[in-house]
Amino acid sequence: MKGITVEHRIARRVASIERSATMALADRARSLKEGGRKVVNLAGGDPYFATPKHVVDAAQGALEEGFTHYTSSRGLPELRAAVANRLQLRSGVTRDPEREIVITPSAKHAVFVSLMAVLDPGDEVLIPTPSWVSYGQMVRLAGAEPVSVPLCADDGFTLSRELLEAKLTRKTKAIVLNSPTNPTGRVLRASELRDVADFSAAHDLVVVSDEIYEDIVFDENRHCSPSEFPECAERTLAVSGFSKSYAMTGWRLGYVSGPQKLMNAVLKVQEHSVGEAGSFIQRGGVAALTGDQSPVRRMVEQYNRHREWAHAALCQVPGIECALPDGAFYIFPDVSGLGFLDSDACAQWLIEKASVIVTPGSAFGPGGEGHIRLSLAASTATVEAGISQLCDVLSTLD
Ligand code: PMP
Ligand code: GLU
Repeated sequence: MKGITVEHRIARRVASIERSATMALADRARSLKEGGRKVVNLAGGDPYFATPKHVVDAAQGALEEGFTHYTSSRGLPELRAAVANRLQLRSGVTRDPEREIVITPSAKHAVFVSLMAVLDPGDEVLIPTPSWVSYGQMVRLAGAEPVSVPLCADDGFTLSRELLEAKLTRKTKAIVLNSPTNPTGRVLRASELRDVADFSAAHDLVVVSDEIYEDIVFDENRHCSPSEFPECAERTLAVSGFSKSYAMTGWRLGYVSGPQKLMNAVLKVQEHSVGEAGSFIQRGGVAALTGDQSPVRRMVEQYNRHREWAHAALCQVPGIECALPDGAFYIFPDVSGLGFLDSDACAQWLIEKASVIVTPGSAFGPGGEGHIRLSLAASTATVEAGISQLCDVLSTLD
């Protein structure tokens, strides 16, 4: 019937959330390009590298041999074994591949099933911000309430127990960590993780630790997981995946590991939502984890060059403050000294004047305003063109 809308039938918890700012910007970049506009996209966190050939070959081989059916909902046993081996070698963390690891279709889904497994309506979840755009919205989808723990650029976005304690209530159930961090490029120090471990144990909280950028760390920085602390290992769901380390964003493959009791709950959510990750995709994952790691090293070296070049260029622009990232492939300059109303206005202006698409810091929650995020995962030519164009126009501002 004309005039009648079904909008009021949308679930309140969905109506209360927003579209993913990063995905909306990726759509915007595509449609500007399709419309014939020459834009440089530094918004998306999608590596421009091709997926390593041995990974593609493994998935192709699986398709050709007809490996196209359901797998165990926990994921292929050989992939779980490869993940367990990696966790042991990387962090000294022992997880039973039979019961304590679930392969998921993407790291994003791994975060989602982890949150769904532990949250009830009314629970609160602490999220140090600026943070990746999806955590808060996922918490809302689970019926719970995200509580930002704003970190401060002046002290390098350092996390501390005091900051966490300040946001604790009787409703606090979990904390979401992400190191190396999207968007700041920060790698949490062992002392900060020690604080998280003590705090979560003292208040009986679950830690969801998103470690998707674990391979992308520079200089003397070392990725450290909260699971490495014994008192935290028993309450941590650690998430990682293949998108960033192996340039496999379109494959949609990730995993969660954690103590058996929590993982039983994670498995139930996965079984009743997607079932499991794609069978032949998982064969690619086995090849990625067990095969030649030199492509990963080469990609990290390239991101390192991008980081150093971008940092030097941005620091030349009067009014910009920019920290050198420790890890991940983003740089997060403070543009608040340039006179824009806010980071959205700055991002909008950069599209118009420099034809460069960046993500406004406001997308990453409290603490992000005043910054813009530039992705360094594009090709060297794209990164150099985008950052040069952007620095040129920003340098002309009074
Ligand atoms: N966590 C963070 C911090 C990310 O930046 C991303 C990028 N999309 C993801 C999780 C999800 O990765 P995936 O492609 O495996 O879903
Ligand atoms: N993680 C990437 C980003 O932050 C990809 C988009 C998304 O999944 O949010 O740009």
